[in-house]
Parts: sequence; C-alpha cells; structure tokens
Amino acid sequence: MKIQLTVFFAIIFVAKGLSQDVLIRDISIIPMSSDTLLVEKSILIQNGKIKQIGDYKDLPKNNETDIIDGKGKFLMPGLADMHVHLPEDDKIENLLLANIAAGVTQIRIMNSKASQIELKKQVEAKKYLVSPNVHISHIIRRGEIYSKDRADSLMKQIKLSKIDFIKLFSVTDKDTFNNLTDSAEEHGVIICGHYPVYLAFGKAEMHPMEEVLGRNFKSIEHLAGYNWISTEEELDSLIHLTKEKHIFNCPTLDWDVMAYNLQYPEAYKNRLTYQFLPKKLTHNWEERYLFSIEEAGGEEKVLQSRDGYKSSFDLKIGILKKLYENDCLLLIGGDAGNSFQADGFNVYEEMIHWSNIGIDNFTILKSATVTPSLFFDQSSAWGTIEVGKNAEMIILTKNPLEQIKNITTIEKTIVGGFVYNNEELLNQIELF
Ligand SMILES: [Zn+2]
Repeated sequence: MKIQLTVFFAIIFVAKGLSQDVLIRDISIIPMSSDTLLVEKSILIQNGKIKQIGDYKDLPKNNETDIIDGKGKFLMPGLADMHVHLPEDDKIENLLLANIAAGVTQIRIMNSKASQIELKKQVEAKKYLVSPNVHISHIIRRGEIYSKDRADSLMKQIKLSKIDFIKLFSVTDKDTFNNLTDSAEEHGVIICGHYPVYLAFGKAEMHPMEEVLGRNFKSIEHLAGYNWISTEEELDSLIHLTKEKHIFNCPTLDWDVMAYNLQYPEAYKNRLTYQFLPKKLTHNWEERYLFSIEEAGGEEKVLQSRDGYKSSFDLKIGILKKLYENDCLLLIGGDAGNSFQADGFNVYEEMIHWSNIGIDNFTILKSATVTPSLFFDQSSAWGTIEVGKNAEMIILTKNPLEQIKNITTIEKTIVGGFVYNNEELLNQIELF
C-alpha cells in the first residue's frame, strides 16, 4: 500500500502530459538511426508519439503546449534492459519505478517470481502508472518434455495470451529443443534464452552450436556455447554463422562480475551506480555484501574462487570482442540480482564493462535502443528518435556518445505520454 501511494504522488507531482502536447526546444538529438547529432533541434510530441522534428520557430504550439527548454542538453531514445528478473508481487511496482528512474523504457523479462500474464494485464490496465513497456515470457524448464504436437499447442496458447516470447531456462532433451524451435518458427513465436545443455547420467551435454545457430533460437544469454568451443578457427566460423543467421547475444558481463566477486575487495567502490545513486538508497548494500562474503566461506575462499574464475571471464571478453568486431547483433542486459546491482540502473554497469573492453559508444547505445527493437520486430515503433515513432526518450545533461558514463546524467524520462523527473523518482524508490 505504501508504494502505491508514493506512485500516486509521483503521477501528481512528477509526470506531466498524456493528452497535452509536449515541445522540447533547442536540444541536441542523438537519433540513434545513425551515428550523428542533430544540434539545437526541437521536437513535438503529441499523444505519446513523435509528431514533428525541426526548428523551434517552425513547430506548431499553443497556450496548452508544455514547453521544455533543452538548451545545452541531449535527447536520445529510452533504454531497453534485455535481461530482467521479475521479483515477488510486492516489489514489482518498485522495479517498474526504478527502471523509469534509470531511463529504461523497455524491459524483457527473463525470469520471474510472479505471474507475468497478471503483470501485463495490470500494466495495460494502467494499474502501474509508472512503467516501462514490458515484454513477458513463457519460461521452459528442465523436466518438461515437448512432442511436436505439445509444442504446437503451447505456441497457440502463447499467441492467445499475448505472451511476447519463450525463454528457455533449461531443457530436458534434444527432441524437446528441436520441437520447440521448429514449432516456434512455424507459429512466428520468438524463442531465446540459455544455451541448450542436456543432462545425461550426471554429465552435461551441449547441443552442437552449429545446429543451435541454425534453428532460429533468436538470442543467446551470457555468451554460453561459444565459451565451450576449443579452437580459435571453430569459434571464428561460429561467430560468422551468428552474424549470417542474425542471432542476437545478450552477454550480461556484470552478472559474472558480481556473481564471482571480480570486484572484491575494493573495486566495487568504483561502480558507477555505487558512486552516483543517493547513499540513502545504497546504504545497506555494503553490509549485505560483507555478509554474503562470509556466507560464501570468508575472504580467503572468495579470493580463491575470484582468481579461479578470471580466465573464464577473460574468455568471455574475448568472445564479446569478436562478436563486436564481426558486427553481430548485441543486446544490453542488466541481469540485476546480486549485490550492488540496482534494477534498471545496472544497464549502466554493463555499458561500462563494454566500454572498458573497447566497444565504441554508439554500438553500446545501439545495443540498448535500436537492436532491442529489432529483436522484437518493433523497430517501426521504437528504438530511434524519428517522426511517427513512440515518444520514448530520455533527456541528459551530458552527451553519452562522448563518454559512456554520461548515461548517469539522465534528467527526464518520457514514456506513454508522460514526462518524468528522474530526481523526484529517485526519492521514491527503494533498492534491495
Ligand atoms: Zn538472468
């Protein structure tokens, strides 16, 4: 109840708009349709859509128009977090709010402790007024067996219940994987997720990668599959196949970093969100972290496992670099859930890791805007700043194309016809 009330106030005091026209004047636009900056342009938003882009003097306005001065500021499409875990019911409202506060206007749900169909209904019924667009999944787990017929009826059910895609969490056997991917292709359902690995007599068996890449399995999480390839030549040819088949990758490097304590004992203090988020939100992070170190067996053990994981992490970095150099489709996913990872804001940490390994800023931002829209076949509706698209955008005081850490300077998030003031939203969220 408490959170619902604060959200109610958020709407009253923070959000403007809906039916009101909004005109952002004299702002530098990062359209993301190409690597350019449109300096001092104005943009008219009507009914939640981008109506016109041009010079301020040429754009229609009246007494009712809400005019936002954009001088010296930057405007770009809202961000997408392509790897989100939905928490328990009573924390969902806070997660949605945190995403908007972080400038995230699209989320792809990859795991869930609550009913996703229920969530989608409530978002559509505007129960959660402050919400990004939510892409919900049907999750497949080991133990479920799918014949072709059973897979077909699942696809029909998915289309009827307006589920956006299938997430493979784990899978029982090869037949199940093949039937699901065949049927998904026939019914036009997106299927993606963890790399298919089968357990037989206590041993893990990986589905041959060349086959997986040829089966319309649309995105692979955590760079899995590639990291089990033994020769450089084979890896190169699989990366070329990835490109050829338009397979997306969602690396989630920050998951590895925090799950294996790669920033222990001190480096976590340099984390962007640790430095930029208000202390009142992050004050219990440190205590919890130290407790988790104890739980993991204490400092010595944690340092040992940290050092033991470094070569695996370096391997993943090498794979991501190759995917980038070969111009493969990449998705930014925050995969928040460990210590020092805040919902929504964790996409910034992922961006920093990518930047540190030499990925250019335009590609990083594209992987959080345009490329996610391509994943959902929705690039005609969102992902760039262009006339006719949804007005899902963020206003920043500094240019993230110049330095990726400028992504923390988001002042306003615009989505669903509302204009949110991010500093005020920050006062209303809790971070767990
Ligand atoms: Zn995950």
